[in-house]
Amino acid sequence: MEVALLTVGDELLAGETENTNASWLSRRLTERGATVTRVLVVPDDHDAIASYTREWRESFDAVVVTGGLGGTPDDVTMDAVADAVGREVTVSDEAKEQVVETANAFADDNPELVDAYDLDLDLDAWSSVPEGARVVPNDAGLAPGAVVDSVYVLPGVPSEMQAVFERMVDDFGGDALSETVYTPAPEGALTGRLETLRDEFDVTVGSYPATDEPNRIKVTGTDTEEVERAAQWVRENVEIIED
Ligand code: ATP
Ligand code: MG
Repeated sequence: MEVALLTVGDELLAGETENTNASWLSRRLTERGATVTRVLVVPDDHDAIASYTREWRESFDAVVVTGGLGGTPDDVTMDAVADAVGREVTVSDEAKEQVVETANAFADDNPELVDAYDLDLDLDAWSSVPEGARVVPNDAGLAPGAVVDSVYVLPGVPSEMQAVFERMVDDFGGDALSETVYTPAPEGALTGRLETLRDEFDVTVGSYPATDEPNRIKVTGTDTEEVERAAQWVRENVEIIED
């Protein structure tokens, strides 16, 4: 399964917020055997979000979009995704029920904040999803996620993104697996052997040099035995550190 990740936010592009959602999702999807084929950051901009979602929906099995779900003016993701899949945005009754419940619980727990700030969230905005989308509850915050066609829309706040993702996790999987071998040999000494490895086995080969730990050689493929054979070849042909 090929999955593309679109992370939305001006603050990510400015380097103010580290894109931990991208690395967390990449790791989690890879663990499940899916292959992450693209990761991109785009601004809080309707057209940028819509055009990548539209294009990637054709090319990949799933598109995961994070960020910009709330009801503030810079939250344009739901509109943009709806546009990309050719649907209107509507207030979902199911989403609204969840949003009202969460907002009421928050108000009950934080009466001083409600008094001090005169909170007046536009709950309809937080409950809006593309028409016909599956609503995915947010156990860690206000804005629910949504699934429409093969597009998965998640909140930007990392704890909320993770909570919503775990409720859709069964949709993601695949056959990709990998084995990693550690070596003290410098990368420059390995080029020929890495070429042989790539040519002789049906795997992709990654070589990841590091300064303060051993270099890493990683073989990835979709056939368990082939990946094991390739890893075994590395163990027999490269000086390795047992893990
Ligand atoms: P809310 O519902 O609270 O408005 P949201 O879904 O609209 O959330 P954003 O407004 O985009 O999400 O971001 C909320 C917070 O999460 C911000 O502090 C933002 O910097 C952070 N955030 C957004 N995207 C990411 C990301 N890719 N990695 C890490 N943090 C992120
Ligand atoms: Mg927001």
